[in-house]
Formats: sequence, structure tokens, C-alpha cells
Amino acid sequence: MATKAARTDSKTIDAGSRMSWEVLETCAAVQSRSVAKGGPPRPASQAEDVSKTIAVRSKTRVKSDHPTLRIRPNLLNLPLTDTRLMERLQRARLFRDSLGPYEAEVICGPESDLHKTYDDCKKNPDHAHFKPVRAFTFGDMPLPYRNPGLYRLLQILAFLTVRVSVATVSDKRKGTQNEVFKKVESCNRFLRYGTGRVSGVQVFNTRQGKHCACPECLQSDAPQMTWGFVDVITAKHVVFYQDEARATTCRWGYDGDDSAEINLIGFKAKFSVNETDDWCKLRCVSHDVKLLSKLEKNLTKYNSSALELYDSWRMSKKKSPPKFIAIVSHPHGCPKQISFGFLRKRVNVGGVDLKYIYTAATCHGSSGASVFLLGRDGRNGLYNQIHSGMNKDESEKVTPNYGNFSVAVSH
Ligand SMILES: [Zn+2]
Ligand SMILES: [Zn+2]
Repeated sequence: MATKAARTDSKTIDAGSRMSWEVLETCAAVQSRSVAKGGPPRPASQAEDVSKTIAVRSKTRVKSDHPTLRIRPNLLNLPLTDTRLMERLQRARLFRDSLGPYEAEVICGPESDLHKTYDDCKKNPDHAHFKPVRAFTFGDMPLPYRNPGLYRLLQILAFLTVRVSVATVSDKRKGTQNEVFKKVESCNRFLRYGTGRVSGVQVFNTRQGKHCACPECLQSDAPQMTWGFVDVITAKHVVFYQDEARATTCRWGYDGDDSAEINLIGFKAKFSVNETDDWCKLRCVSHDVKLLSKLEKNLTKYNSSALELYDSWRMSKKKSPPKFIAIVSHPHGCPKQISFGFLRKRVNVGGVDLKYIYTAATCHGSSGASVFLLGRDGRNGLYNQIHSGMNKDESEKVTPNYGNFSVAVSH
């Protein structure tokens, strides 16, 4: 969602109307922009944790009968709280490493572990090629692609992007390439994170005489009469089966740690059938009529703007193949960020399904994010692309993000 400053930018550039793609074409090739470092702001509770840890550490040095020393004499400098945290992070790291190319995020403890995981990131250690969507302005767009229409479209894409968290592991994963998620016995609390995009909204109201179908309302004597479905596209390795869909929460508007917690509750889902595909169309329920209306309006705007942009790009650059990629995702399950890059390769993996390989930065937690490709997205009837993971062989060739790939999903 755009910040006040970003909205002001948008208004200003509206007056200048659409920039000519031909003029932009004469500019230099896109260079990945280094953006704000340091990641998302930390919640106050974490700052308190750190100061507590320091306090406990200095205490252990002077007081030999501290409980930490009695329980674990070999860990003189590590209070128990730190040891537990390290064990949790280590377990989560093992799960993450076992995911192969997939980029879901995994934690074995409270959500504050996500920030620690963000800080420990090996793929994009400083996250310099990500920009928090809250601070995203027109000037952050790569120079040849600074087009008002494209900027507005990416703002709407950010508005429609949600963080997906799943609190269970389906037995149906057994025997599939997603079996790695089965290895969770040693975690007391296991959460898997990815990203999704709103792809459909249906609102029902009292006049239609249909009450809400969510589990809570089905058991209630006074079910909600005004409610709606929100469809979210994400990756199948994030939400694998119906039992996982019911244990899924999509957090909307998570732009910063001070964002209000607004959740859409997973209800049921459709999934890609074969192993090479990796998409899930998740259906969520919400009773928040204002939110439903906002999502519906923005989705309509997104679809019409994407088509308009596609037409304008095709009209002006018929001979130039599409290459500019933008991804809005929740790296490490932390607040929403945007990244840019190039399409490097298209691979046909059977039938009409295409795998795209590109350089836009992604991390664990980016799985399931919509991949916007300028000059392709927006055309009616074409497939969308869903970020799936990173091909390590490809990535070794050029940059850490070179082997990032997505799979196709029909509308
Ligand atoms: Zn990262
Ligand atoms: Zn309900």
C-alpha cells in the first residue's frame, strides 16, 4: 500500500500523463538499484529482548550461581533464553535447507524469530535489492521504466499482496517432492510462510439470504449475513492440501511492524495437479465488508490498468521482447518489499506451462508472490507467473538472484 508521500508522487505524475516508452528505450539498461538497507523496522519487544539479553549476560559474569550456569555449565556466556533461540533458529535452518529450490520460510518458534532469520539471510545478506513498499516512490523505479502507469500498477499490486502463513503440515505431502515439510516432529511450534496475491473477490449481503460459510459461522446461532470470499494465488509448496488451506491465514496490509493485523482466514483451495506445477488458488473468508470493497475495487483497477499498460507497451515496442520484472513479496515473512530485475530465460516444462528465470531479488518467504512481467502481464487469456524458488546451478553463474524462477498459473 502506498505511503502518503508515494500517493503525492502519484498525483504529481498523473498530471504529466503517460511517458513515452520510445523515449525511455533510449536510456541505459536497467541497473538493479541499491535501496534502503537494514530491512523492516523492529518491534519494540525485540529491542527489549536484546537489552534483557545483555543484562543477563553481564549478570552471568559476576554471579556464578546463575541458573544458566547450573543447567548448562558448558555455555558460560549464553543465558538459557539465547540457547533456546539458537536451537530454534538452527532447527528452522535445517528445514529451510532441506526445501531444495523452494523459497518458503520456516520458523520453529514465535514470530519474532522471523526478524532474526531476516538478519541471518545468506542469499541477500543486506537485502539491498529490496525496497520496503511503504517507502517505494516513483524515483525508485529503474530509469528506463519510470512510467506513471507502471508505477500506479505496482502500487496496486502491492496493495493486493498478502503474507501467507500455514500452521500445519498435511499427510498428503508424503511421497511427493514436498515431503521435506514432513520433518517437523522436533518443532513445538512450526509455521511456514509465503506470499500471495488477491485474484478474486465475491461479496454477499443480507439481501441474498446466504449466511457465511466459514467454520465459525457454521457453528454459530447467529452467522454473519454480510461477508465475502477473497481468492488468493500462491504456491502449492506453501499451501499443499485442503487441511493446510484451513490452517492458513493471509495477513493483508503488512507493510511495517506497526501495521494493523488484518487477516483473511483460509477456507478451501484448488491446486495444480502435476509435480512440475506449483500453484494454489486459496479461498479465504472475511466479514470485513469495508476491506472486501477496497480489495474488489483495487482488483478491478489492477486488471484494467494491466491491460492498458500491456497495450501501450505493445504499441510502442512491438519488436522488443518483454524483460522487466517486478515482484512484491514478504521476504522471511517480514513486511512487504518490492524488487526489480530482468527476465533471463523462458523454459517450456510441458504443455503450455512455462518456467521463467529472472534476476529480481527474492528470499525465503517470497514463494507464491506474483511475478509481474512488463509486456506480457495484462493480456487477457495469458497465464500469470508465481514465484517458486531458486535454481542453485543457475545462481552460481552470475548473481545470487540469477536462478530465481516462477511457474505459470492460469487466471
Ligand atoms: Zn533474505
Ligand atoms: Zn463467517
